[in-house]
Amino acid sequence: MIDSKHIEFLKGIVGAENIYSDKAHLIAYSYDATRTRYEPDAVLFPRHEQDISDILKYCNKHKIVITPRGAGSGFTGGALPTNGGILLGMEKHMNQILEIDFQNMVAVVQPGVINMDLQRAVEEVGLFYPPDPASEEYCSVGGNVSENAGGMRAAKYGITKDYVMALRAVRPNGDIIRAGKRTIKDVAGYNIAGILIASEGTLAVITEITLKLLPKPKFTKAYMGIFPSVEDAMNAVFKSLAAGANPVAMEFLDSLVVQALKEKLGIELPESAGALLIGDVDGNVSDEVEFQLEILDKSFRENGAVEFIIADEGEDRDKLWYARRNASPSITIFGSKKLNEDISVPRSKLPEALTRIYEIGDRYGFKVPCFGHAGDGNIHVNVMVDGSSPQELEDGHKAIEEIFELVVDMGGTLSGEHGIGTSKAPFMSIAFNDEELSLFRDIKQAFDPNNILNPGKMGLPN
Ligand SMILES: Cc1cc2nc3c(=O)[nH]c(=O)nc-3n(C[C@H](O)[C@H](O)[C@H](O)COP(=O)(O)OP(=O)(O)OC[C@H]3O[C@@H](n4cnc5c(N)ncnc54)[C@H](O)[C@@H]3O)c2cc1C
Repeated sequence: MIDSKHIEFLKGIVGAENIYSDKAHLIAYSYDATRTRYEPDAVLFPRHEQDISDILKYCNKHKIVITPRGAGSGFTGGALPTNGGILLGMEKHMNQILEIDFQNMVAVVQPGVINMDLQRAVEEVGLFYPPDPASEEYCSVGGNVSENAGGMRAAKYGITKDYVMALRAVRPNGDIIRAGKRTIKDVAGYNIAGILIASEGTLAVITEITLKLLPKPKFTKAYMGIFPSVEDAMNAVFKSLAAGANPVAMEFLDSLVVQALKEKLGIELPESAGALLIGDVDGNVSDEVEFQLEILDKSFRENGAVEFIIADEGEDRDKLWYARRNASPSITIFGSKKLNEDISVPRSKLPEALTRIYEIGDRYGFKVPCFGHAGDGNIHVNVMVDGSSPQELEDGHKAIEEIFELVVDMGGTLSGEHGIGTSKAPFMSIAFNDEELSLFRDIKQAFDPNNILNPGKMGLPN
């Protein structure tokens, strides 16, 4: 708990207009997308890196807990101030695009920049920043780095970590560190930027991010493959990629999602549709795009597709993507609440993983509609419950735990996108052995010996 003496000192650092300690603001900043609520004791908006250093130095001395916050769109509770203390918000001042270096194809941004604002700014000069989480309109790049966010385009273009070249950050003792360089090659020293990526605000506060950019591809087309069964679609995923297809996105919708789209939104799909693959292909010459579509068409049909549809950019493409965009809202026909996890398995294991996930759902009596980024092996698994009883919810969580055990056993991971935070912290011992968890604690101790920065997240000590 921080008292008025601390508040007064912190006002001296950031100015009275950049600190909130009134109830209304504390409530407003007590949420993220998990919709769980923890109130901080104060919300601070640092103006620049030096403010952050001064705040951390003071808090380290007085053992005041700090939680960094981007846009608060996290799905696993990383930005929740679970221990009270200070919430350090990047949204108000630390939100500038500092540089777009066209010649080196690099952007330098502050952590509070909104992902989509960066995408738009670089596209204006013919460049391209591919990581596109579905929350792109409101999540921050600092939050993306801290969660190693991914998006639809990951199948071809990878995820946030593939674009981070360098970071500036402030350690909990106030030290300002630089990690990485604006060079394609940099092999000097430990890869500290690599450790900070996906560290969920537990090691340092990121203050500046240098990102690799690409040239913006000139041509894009969308495709949809309609398959009679989930197994056929899943086989088509890894077989088409092994055959040389390189789609920007390859999104999967299973038979329950297809049913929900038809029933809830009246989307017209053939009677035989048991699963869909939807995506984009792109390129700098139109022949490249056509070549990609040919490979997909052939591979999909060889793996049972009953139809392969192609759409140009614009309205036709939007129509194809409509089904994918509405997958999540449509599945509420199976239950008012979804226990949603974003597991990832090696792509060749997808058919078996899904069969066994449905078996787990059946055993507990839950529908488990699945959809997501099949092109990169990352599937959103939704155990649908209706909140009818505490027992039902408990069973739902047991089913999730079994699903985690299954995917880890198959060489997969607890989270392909959303991170661990507080929601998945109890499951860390499924994915990591004692020695690995001990190493995580040692790394945390090296950065933050007083455990003031976002304690209790990622299964680390409170
Ligand atoms: C509708 C919806 C769709 C989503 N779709 C996707 C998706 O497709 N792919 C995906 O990967 N995620 C997705 N997410 C999850 C979320 O948007 C991402 O995890 C995003 O990266 C979080 O960014 P944020 O700015 O909101 O971070 P926050 O939620 O504010 O924080 C996330 C974590 O980052 C830490 N953090 C934030 N800023 C800093 C900083 N400057 N220094 C150190 N630590 C910091 C916080 O402490 C916290 O641990 C979605 C969320 C929603 C609500």
